[in-house]
Amino acid sequence: MSLEALRKGLRKRSPGVEAREDRGSLVLEGRVATWEERVALGYYAATAGYKGVVNDIVASEAEWAQAELPSSPFVPPPGERPLEGLSYDVVIIGGGVIGCAIARELCRHQLRILLLEKEEDVAVHTSSRNDGMIHDGFAAHPGSLKAAYNVLGNRLWEGLAAELGIEFRRPGSLLVFRNTAMAALYPVLAARAAKNGVDGWDFWSPRRLRAEEPNITDHQEGALFLPSAGILSPYRATVALAESAILNGARIELGACATGFEMDLKRITRVRTTRGDVSARLVVNAAGNWADHVAAWADDRFFSLHQRRGVDMVLDASTGASQSHILGMPQFTQAWSRSKGGGLVKTLEGNLIVGPTATEAPGRETYATSPGEQRLLERHLRINRALSTSQAITYFAGVRPCTWEEDFVLERSARVANLVHAAGIQSPGLASAPAIAIEIARLAVEALGEVMRVLPRADFRPLREAPPEPRRLGLEARAALVASRPSYGRIVCRCEEVSEGEIRAALVSALPASSLDAVKRRTRAGMGRCHGGFCTPKVMEILADELGLPLEEITKKGPGSPIVLGQTKARGGRP
Ligand SMILES: Cc1cc2nc3c(=O)[nH]c(=O)nc-3n(C[C@H](O)[C@H](O)[C@H](O)COP(=O)(O)OP(=O)(O)OC[C@H]3O[C@@H](n4cnc5c(N)ncnc54)[C@H](O)[C@@H]3O)c2cc1C
Repeated sequence: MSLEALRKGLRKRSPGVEAREDRGSLVLEGRVATWEERVALGYYAATAGYKGVVNDIVASEAEWAQAELPSSPFVPPPGERPLEGLSYDVVIIGGGVIGCAIARELCRHQLRILLLEKEEDVAVHTSSRNDGMIHDGFAAHPGSLKAAYNVLGNRLWEGLAAELGIEFRRPGSLLVFRNTAMAALYPVLAARAAKNGVDGWDFWSPRRLRAEEPNITDHQEGALFLPSAGILSPYRATVALAESAILNGARIELGACATGFEMDLKRITRVRTTRGDVSARLVVNAAGNWADHVAAWADDRFFSLHQRRGVDMVLDASTGASQSHILGMPQFTQAWSRSKGGGLVKTLEGNLIVGPTATEAPGRETYATSPGEQRLLERHLRINRALSTSQAITYFAGVRPCTWEEDFVLERSARVANLVHAAGIQSPGLASAPAIAIEIARLAVEALGEVMRVLPRADFRPLREAPPEPRRLGLEARAALVASRPSYGRIVCRCEEVSEGEIRAALVSALPASSLDAVKRRTRAGMGRCHGGFCTPKVMEILADELGLPLEEITKKGPGSPIVLGQTKARGGRP
């Protein structure tokens, strides 16, 4: 579409909006009344075929969401600038699954690597707020980067999980046909699976589906079975990738927010951070929902991100026994939707995750859920007759960082010689992470090769030893563990059967936990039905003991989130 035709189309839809071309991308400017209007214009512009759409339209109701700074940058006390003056070959911005996977992959080379994460832990944002599904690759648009990297990533996760010492399973996924018209579409769906290179698919008759999933709804006409779909714990995977990178020599600096770049002509020379400014030969932008801001610091904003919220319901671990596969029952309109439609994902621990929703909404880190969103999830429960909302133990929200083109941005900057983007990593970003990491590491090494010699490392250690988990051991092995290390016999979190030994191990690991949430990400203590009602004081005591801090300094999620403020009663009963 020509620029003139696009302008005409935009004016027809919203008179206050203008478009201009900037170095191959399209920039939209102006004001509109609602967020929906802004979103519709962004998608309309994306049909014009430019490199990217930079949507700077302001929707008045949502101006707050245009904030330029991350919502919770951790500003350390004055004087704490441990990074000041240091020099690295690669600086990665963002400690989600993508940044951590890239850091580990780059460790295969003799490079000085620094990863900056603004929060007190890795996997605080989208990488822990997802369904943990290693998608088969069927749902991604054929020909997209999402489709290609999803299928590759799916193949890589099994071996990678084994190296990292984390659990991975392939229960397979069933897309249940709700009527005969949908079942008749099977050949079209099979053709799509073939086009995307998915590893296997099959038609399951209503009878076979009922035999394999006895609790399946009566209103079904068979299913598309995709055996390669897998599951893992997304936060454990991210922590394990980070630890593996550290064990291989990378530095991960938490509570370090990148705030800008110093540039020399078309190169980034230094990265400014809240913990000191560092020199960088190359920068990787893996900043999730903030990746377009990071690109802007280098005058390289050829894309912009919009946020698609997803809310999930978590059911009690006992519900897992009621189904064996990942189940989804897409509506007919799903074919035109930008989301995969959600369903029921059985986690490794047996909880069923119901969802997610998909709603365009402002807010890059807005995670509160509403009763309206929660009700949207109830339709998924109808797939499995054994389920009801009374089994819900919690809800959570995540935010997908989407480009207007609805695809990943995996490339070297065309304008800045030493910048590589891993941006727009919406779903299936978790599934694609190992493949994305290989490609970004390749691009980074190629760019670095122009200014230095990059040699492979002979001593890269792919294996990471995970601490023992008594609940996964047989009786004999558990008894032997407890006999040699008694703290593994003292159960702290009764819902999830997490022992004191596991919590203490998480506090002294390669990337030690330092808050209640960080302990939860590593051990699951507090993730069960009572949601920490019983174990929180005990976990706090262990944290205080191991970190040598008073209880008042133990936090839920880093600075500014204390759990107790002081003593209300003195020992002996007098206040
Ligand atoms: C509800 C929901 C369900 C999903 N389900 C699935 C699924 O089942 N399977 C799947 O494959 N994908 C799924 N996804 C998508 C997947 O979660 C994401 O694609 C993936 O987690 C993105 O990882 P990331 O590392 O790019 O982003 P993030 O995890 O958001 O990491 C980016 C990090 O960068 C940090 N950062 C940002 N700016 C700065 C700065 N200036 N300085 C320092 N640090 C900074 C942030 O604090 C953040 O930790 C889902 C997403 C949602 C929302």
